[in-house]
Amino acid sequence: MRYVIVGGVAGGATAAARLRRIDEKAEIILFEKGQNISYANCGLPYYIGGVIKERENLFVQTPEKFGQLLNLDIRVQSEVLSIDRSNKQIRVREANGREYNEHYDKLLLSPGALPFVPPLPGVDSPGVFTLRNVEDTDAIKSYLDTHKVKRAIVVGGGFIGLEMAENLHALGIAVNVVEMAPQVMAPVDFSMATIVHAHLQEKGIGLYLGKAVKSIERQGEVLSASLDSGEKIEAELILLSIGVRPNTKLAADAQLAIGPARGIQVNEYLQTSDPDIYAIGDAIEYPHPLTGKPWTNFLAGPANRQGRIVADNMHGQTIRSYEGAIGTAIAKIFDLTVAATGLSAKALKREGLPYETVTVQPNSHAGYYPDAYPLTLKITFHPETGMLYGAQCVGIEGVDKRIDSIAQIIKRKGGITDLMQTEQAYAPPFSSAKDPVALAGYVAD
Ligand code: FAD
Repeated sequence: MRYVIVGGVAGGATAAARLRRIDEKAEIILFEKGQNISYANCGLPYYIGGVIKERENLFVQTPEKFGQLLNLDIRVQSEVLSIDRSNKQIRVREANGREYNEHYDKLLLSPGALPFVPPLPGVDSPGVFTLRNVEDTDAIKSYLDTHKVKRAIVVGGGFIGLEMAENLHALGIAVNVVEMAPQVMAPVDFSMATIVHAHLQEKGIGLYLGKAVKSIERQGEVLSASLDSGEKIEAELILLSIGVRPNTKLAADAQLAIGPARGIQVNEYLQTSDPDIYAIGDAIEYPHPLTGKPWTNFLAGPANRQGRIVADNMHGQTIRSYEGAIGTAIAKIFDLTVAATGLSAKALKREGLPYETVTVQPNSHAGYYPDAYPLTLKITFHPETGMLYGAQCVGIEGVDKRIDSIAQIIKRKGGITDLMQTEQAYAPPFSSAKDPVALAGYVAD
């Protein structure tokens, strides 16, 4: 059996490793367009900011070591150009321009997502970047090393944009964030985002909310961004971080079904409209477990989980279905942690679903024990059944464990009673006998 995988980072590398573990004899070929495989995308902002000091620490595996360890045929700098479904082969182009065909029995697509670059005047000026991979990271790093960057503009106040704002600020750069929506961090409601706004401003980050960049102009070393409000902001570096789109070109060109959320359509076995071609990760769309509607979810956890499931299904001995992801995400924004899971009030309103919310502001651990910090936890739930829809949490300490435990309840279609029944490990430095999760349940009850 010959398995061919396109994309060698989160989903693709996981699937390759799992395939080898369940099939000692199979031929496994992994194609990666870039120079690296299995690297930590999520660590890239922290390498730019100097928190992760060594570049090599970004690489979970090198192509050579990974290939040797698992007996995989890894071909980096090899872009898959097209899929010929009737002959079950792909066309590959190496960095040196050589092109060739390769046969597959089962094909897996894990080509990720592409950063959205708006067609604005001046968007391709030197000093304007997006951040998606190691190549982008090296380009940003090298620009910072060779230019006097004193000011930066981050366009887009999502998780990556704000992580970058913090990391550029750590380098002594004055940062302005421009966000088209009236708030940063789209997965949380406005009421929660305001805590983040205040914190960013306290740290000296400029915020231009509800404003969009209309054009960019470069004069000498200075870039100036014109906003739709008429304002102009100057900087030496601009990072565009306004979202990503599923990378569906290969699939669409091969006439595989693309769904309404613009991702590759897969069934519960992560199989595309061609039974010998599977797809996972940022490139796919999948029904949201709570709304039943297809959506795209650009997170590393689901991509890794899908990598393992899809390997089993491609092999065929144990068939597993993918349960879907509810969008559990977290980010460190200076001293704050911001996390969300499931559906916010904003999202429920958009969906036209009835909901109620409860917000509690307890301490992160027992107030009588030193260094307890206020923590804001908001839950959304069905007004009659009490079924939980979502939770958002902002605070300095203990945000992650609260969101993680609520996410498990939501994934099991639990409700506010389950919040009250949650068991949390408690001692004064860690929590309170009445933990914030339980407290949210008591208030909602
Ligand atoms: P990727 O890991 O992006 O891999 C796709 C690979 O396919 C790429 O290397 C690409 O070069 C290759 N490829 C594409 N087309 C072809 C082709 N035609 N031929 C050959 N190769 C091809 N998620 C979190 O959950 N938490 C975080 O903190 C977090 N932080 C992030 C920070 C940054 C800066 C970025 C960019 C992403 C972050 N993510 C985070 C998202 C997470 O990295 C992705 O969800 C995850 O990597 C998706 O896995 P994937 O396999 O679908 O795609």
